[in-house]
Amino acid sequence: MEFNPVSEAILRELSSVLGPDNLSTAEAERQLRAQDMSQHEAHLSEVVVWPGSGRQVADVLRIAHDNRVAVTPWGAGSSLEGNPIPLFGGITLSLERMNQIVALHADDFQVTVQPGIGYKDLNQALGTHGLFFAPDPGANASIGGMLANNAAGTRTVKYGATKDNILAMEVALADGRLIHVGSRSVKQSAGYDLLHLFVGSEGTLGVVTEATLKLVPLPNVMSGVVASFTSVAEAIAAVVELRSSGLDIAALEFIDAATSELLSREEGVDWGDNPTLLMEIHAAHAETAELDLALVQEICQAHGAIRFQATTDTAERQKMWHTRHHMFETMRRVFVDYQWQLSDVAVPISQYPALVQFARQALQTRNLPEFMVGHAGDGNLHITTPYQDEAVRQHANQANEEVVLRAIELGGTSTGEHGVGIGKAKFMVREHGETAVDVMRSLKQTLDPHGILNPGKIFVS
Ligand SMILES: Cc1cc2nc3c(=O)[nH]c(=O)nc-3n(C[C@H](O)[C@H](O)[C@H](O)COP(=O)(O)OP(=O)(O)OC[C@H]3O[C@@H](n4cnc5c(N)ncnc54)[C@H](O)[C@@H]3O)c2cc1C
Repeated sequence: MEFNPVSEAILRELSSVLGPDNLSTAEAERQLRAQDMSQHEAHLSEVVVWPGSGRQVADVLRIAHDNRVAVTPWGAGSSLEGNPIPLFGGITLSLERMNQIVALHADDFQVTVQPGIGYKDLNQALGTHGLFFAPDPGANASIGGMLANNAAGTRTVKYGATKDNILAMEVALADGRLIHVGSRSVKQSAGYDLLHLFVGSEGTLGVVTEATLKLVPLPNVMSGVVASFTSVAEAIAAVVELRSSGLDIAALEFIDAATSELLSREEGVDWGDNPTLLMEIHAAHAETAELDLALVQEICQAHGAIRFQATTDTAERQKMWHTRHHMFETMRRVFVDYQWQLSDVAVPISQYPALVQFARQALQTRNLPEFMVGHAGDGNLHITTPYQDEAVRQHANQANEEVVLRAIELGGTSTGEHGVGIGKAKFMVREHGETAVDVMRSLKQTLDPHGILNPGKIFVS
């Protein structure tokens, strides 16, 4: 792939569209947006731009398209597969200043937002209306970044991923056209589903400039549960049974023994050093919550649970989820000066025990630490491996590769929620087949004929 550098003439054109305060070639600004939260190598773009409207985003793309300059959208930079790294330099198109709520349609359980708003900030604003946006990746990701990666997280088991919570979008195309996709109707069947074509496309097909999201009412009763088991096999068997029980569980997380021990020691939670499940259960009434909790306890005890704590206290539940969501930060505090191999695969729930067992073996045969957590209710597994030297990095990569291939064999996917980015591109043909990947390339060619949008991602270049 060849692109032109950002010349002085292009900078002048960008400045005339955006105003001089909304672009910068300063190294510090480019460094800040050279790498996401993954271990993939940093790359500097040549200029960072901060458009303030959909029209301005489209104008930036038109300039880049006409001049064959690479453009990489940037939300909050919290990706874990190198998704927003500007591999080919050019323009970093930051949506950070487009962070407003455009309209709240509370009676329709919908909100229209600009893409740069953080989902946590959005939920704080929605709380006073008794509503929230359910997908919950943990880091304060932007809505645009969540749409682009089809982010998921702890609550997907009940509310779905980002793709299940979007109704309509405004999208700027590579050549500078602005289109609207989807509608505010919950039911939609009018023609090709362009809305979901852009979701999960990682900024390679267009840039989301506005989004209308589905909201849900805040539940009346939210319970938190911690259950520990003597073995991984028992914990995972309990996951499968909990999912089959008909219980309406809002979050069902697996945390292995090593991670439970580390979090108990560092974060002051009492999770012990055994394989652990964390759960959240939503209910309209205290009585139904109690009945649900009794069934959860029965299932966990049938699988030999050695610890069972349930709470409806808000502070205790929030502490539990804060500990889970900040797990990576805690690990980075403990493993100072380490780098990280982060794995993300998902399989059908019935295959989850086989996947976890395979992953443990892949780690054990290489003497790698077993730090495994997962959004188990969705069959999603993450392995987190700290490393300092090249030999361990290579072992961690080999283990990751084996686990990815096994997940695909088990009818699953190479990435449940982090997206393809750089790291998973090599698995696309194995997962989808050559013909399907050719169809993806044709779509890319149609929507972005000069290949300027987030080049080097999704496809092996
Ligand atoms: C500690 C930690 C925990 C995490 N846990 C989870 C988890 O549980 N579940 C999960 O799904 N993810 C998780 N993530 C990953 C990350 O938060 C998500 O991938 C998130 O969607 C990234 O959003 P962002 O705003 O940071 O986007 P960025 O990282 O800035 O960008 C993501 C991608 O979107 C593109 N992009 C950004 N904005 C737009 C736009 N407006 N239009 C088009 N393309 C755009 C970028 O080019 C890039 O390809 C976690 C990350 C961290 C650091």
